[in-house]
Amino acid sequence: MALMITDECINCDVCEPECPNSAISMGSEIYLIDPNKCTECIGHFDEPQCVQVCPVECIPVNPKWPETHDQLAEKYYALIADNK
Ligand code: SF4
Ligand code: SF4
Repeated sequence: MALMITDECINCDVCEPECPNSAISMGSEIYLIDPNKCTECIGHFDEPQCVQVCPVECIPVNPKWPETHDQLAEKYYALIADNK
């Protein structure tokens, strides 16, 4: 599953630069995760980096984006192919 940021976000700015897929950006009020780019950090790290750094623990999985580990890995390969 892609992850999502809830309205408990305090806009502390620390997660955005940690995302290896540039999936995090500032929205109109709080930070947002683009589910088309979030791989739960699969392909880059063992743990989701945004979750590791968020001080208020407001980054759960996005229930609207059910994905298997293999689907997340495929997304990772598609993203790096696009970036070539
Ligand atoms: Fe980015 Fe990883 Fe967080 Fe997904 S889990 S938004 S890929 S840092
Ligand atoms: Fe919001 Fe957490 Fe990201 Fe800070 S680390 S901007 S609180 S989601």
